[in-house]
Amino acid sequence: MTVIELVQGDITRQSVDAVVNAANSSLLGGGGVDGAIHRRGGPEILDACRDLRASHYGKGLRTGQAVATTAGRLDARWVIHTVGPVWSATEDRSGLLASCYEQSLRVAAELGARTVAFPAISTGIYGWPLDDGARIAVRTVRESAGAAIDVVRFVLFDETAYGAFAAQAG
Ligand code: ADP
Repeated sequence: MTVIELVQGDITRQSVDAVVNAANSSLLGGGGVDGAIHRRGGPEILDACRDLRASHYGKGLRTGQAVATTAGRLDARWVIHTVGPVWSATEDRSGLLASCYEQSLRVAAELGARTVAFPAISTGIYGWPLDDGARIAVRTVRESAGAAIDVVRFVLFDETAYGAFAAQAG
């Protein structure tokens, strides 16, 4: 059974097998979690992302998909990059947000990662309402983390995000 943990903190400082990055489709870096991972992980991650763009993702990684690279200087072994949907008030994109968690867990299992840390995907620059993002995150991880994953740790940056996830994880 997969244990779900909640911690308030910085995802770049987690000692887990794989850290999930709230990337953008370019895979070439951005703000928020993405910027923090590249800053702390060093240039090896960006080099690996550039190679992926050149070899497999000429048009970028699609929303809801996930792909792994080295974690560079992070404690983790891998970074799994996934592209969350931008929040829309007029279109239901929750399937794409769920897909980020599902696909990241699938990639983690393929790599042999047993402990995985997630940020609250899409709830920063991409504007997804925190409570709904937390609901989708917790539900999807409960439904889709298979026996290969021992621990999923949600790493929440502030107290508000921690509270939103705690309310869902109950
Ligand atoms: P997105 O573009 O998918 O919205 P962001 O990186 O902007 O991604 O934000 C996703 C969530 O991660 C937000 O709730 C934000 O507050 C949080 N966050 C930002 N930096 C960190 C960090 N270093 N560790 C953990 N969470 C972070």
